[in-house]
Amino acid sequence: MTPVQLVILDRDGVINEDSDDYIRTVAQWVPIAGSLEAIASLNRAGFRVGVATNQSGIGRGYYSLETLAGMHARMTELLTHAGGRIDALRCCPHLPTDHCRCRKPRPGMLLALMREFAVEPQQCCFVGDAYSDFRAAEAAGMAFHLVRTGKGERTLAAHPALACAGIWNSLAEFAAALTALSAQLAASGMATGVTGNHPGPA
Ligand SMILES: [Mg+2]
Ligand SMILES: [Zn+2]
Repeated sequence: MTPVQLVILDRDGVINEDSDDYIRTVAQWVPIAGSLEAIASLNRAGFRVGVATNQSGIGRGYYSLETLAGMHARMTELLTHAGGRIDALRCCPHLPTDHCRCRKPRPGMLLALMREFAVEPQQCCFVGDAYSDFRAAEAAGMAFHLVRTGKGERTLAAHPALACAGIWNSLAEFAAALTALSAQLAASGMATGVTGNHPGPA
C-alpha cells in the first residue's frame, strides 16, 4: 500500500462511533477505541492525515455548524492528548438533493485534499466504512481500505466483492499494518516518500 503520503479518513464509523440517527451533539462524538492512537502513529510515521466527512445533518437541520465545530474541537483536543493531529478536515454539509460536488460518493473532498497536499492519487488512500466511501475513492483514483467498524460489516455484507485494497477490523489495525510496511520499506532503503519530505505544521 505504499508509497502512500496522504491517508484520508472518513469520520463517522472510522474515527468515532457512528449512529444511524446521526451524531448530533458534542457529547455523542465518542472515539472508537484505538482510533486516536492510530492517527498519532500515522503522524509519527510521516503520513499526512486528512478527513473527508459527509455531514448532511447540517443541511437537514439536525445540528448547527457551531455544534459541528464543537465536535471537531473535541476531536482535536482528544487527539492532541493522544499525541496526534489531523492535517486537514473537509466536511460536506449538503443534502443529497443539493447535488454538490463534495458529497460522497462524489470525489470532491478527496480531490481537494489531493490538491492541498500536492499529491497524486497513487500517493493517497482512503479509509472508510461505507459504500459511498468506496465510490468516492474509486472516482478519485485512489486505493480504498474498508474498516469493519461503523457501517463496515453492513457494507461488506451488501457488497461482498468490493474491490478493496484491504479490509481491516479497525483503523488501529490498518494503521499498524501501514506503519509496519512503511518501516520495512525504510529499513530496506526504498524511497517511500513518507520519511519527512514535507515540513510539519507550524
Ligand atoms: Mg462513515
Ligand atoms: Zn457537499
